[in-house]
Amino acid sequence: MNLFVKDIAIDLGTTNTLIQVKGRGIVLREPSVVAINNITSQVLFIGEKAKEMLGRTPDNIMAVVPLQNGVIADFNATKLMLMDFMNKVLPKSLFNRPRVVICVPSGVTDVEERAVEEVVRAAGAKDVFLMEAPLAAAIGAGLKVDRPEGSMIVDIGGGTTEIAVLSLGGLVVTKSVKVAGDKIDYAIIEYMKKQYGLYIGKTTAEEIKIKIGAAYNSMTEEKMRVKGRDLSTGLPENVIVTTSEIMNAMQEVLEEIVDAIRKILECTPPELASDIMEQGIMLTGGGALLKNIDTYITKKTGIPAHVSDKALDAVTIGAGLALDNIDVLKKISSSRK
Ligand code: ADP
Ligand code: MG
Repeated sequence: MNLFVKDIAIDLGTTNTLIQVKGRGIVLREPSVVAINNITSQVLFIGEKAKEMLGRTPDNIMAVVPLQNGVIADFNATKLMLMDFMNKVLPKSLFNRPRVVICVPSGVTDVEERAVEEVVRAAGAKDVFLMEAPLAAAIGAGLKVDRPEGSMIVDIGGGTTEIAVLSLGGLVVTKSVKVAGDKIDYAIIEYMKKQYGLYIGKTTAEEIKIKIGAAYNSMTEEKMRVKGRDLSTGLPENVIVTTSEIMNAMQEVLEEIVDAIRKILECTPPELASDIMEQGIMLTGGGALLKNIDTYITKKTGIPAHVSDKALDAVTIGAGLALDNIDVLKKISSSRK
């Protein structure tokens, strides 16, 4: 066993947490969910197992998503979760303590950031660096961020979409909107309620989105049988929905994402904007995996959009690459405070 601890990079996302150990690749991918016993406040499950309990917990168990809408909704649960994940990847006896770079959602306050730092330190880290998630996403997606040209990254996560224009290794303009995967799921829940009087949970809505959803006119019209509860009888019921129905149900939310992109382009210096027109927009985050979202954004903005082939991992990969360049990391990390 290798007792020398390697540096690690963490993407503490609102939906998923990823950890990369340098030299070993991404060793942990878990939903950011914690299941707690309501009565004793004892933590029962963290990660995948806790996610399975969302929407189907008995009275005495509560599955919580500690980071919501890009902010920390439950700090204690966040702390326990992060501690648990770090303990999973770090060996028990520490000869060398690792350096850790961690990306947190942009809505996290300074006080919370410092508290996150403390948690990471308590889990055994020697040095902790906080890094802006959009910068990490851009580096991880392979954008040449240190050049004087402008580039644009749009990271569509669960709670937030982070949009940034980068140039010369820094963020020139950034915007975070609370419109992303979760809001799309809620739009699907609403549609099912209005159209069919069928109540479905968030997990089912997400399943529909991933299986048959598409942002833009899809050549293949798919169908899916959806189970839920009939709102008038209260009994289990099922209906069949199609890709085009779901596409329509999502339009309003997708339009909000496009609006945010347009707004950021308006605040972008013209030279950088023309670089972006040429190079296009890079899409990352789980939301970028929605079928045809690249075509949709291209049509709506007139700028070519590309989905990173590492959409889910880009933040973690970029944060890991930043560890190779610790001087730069020290600079960008301290500039945050
Ligand atoms: P975060 O950074 O907030 O943790 P992620 O980047 O992990 O979020 O993305 C999570 C979001 O991506 C969720 O809303 C999830 O439903 C969505 N997602 C994941 N895979 C797909 C897919 N194939 N199609 C559409 N949405 C997806
Ligand atoms: Mg993310």
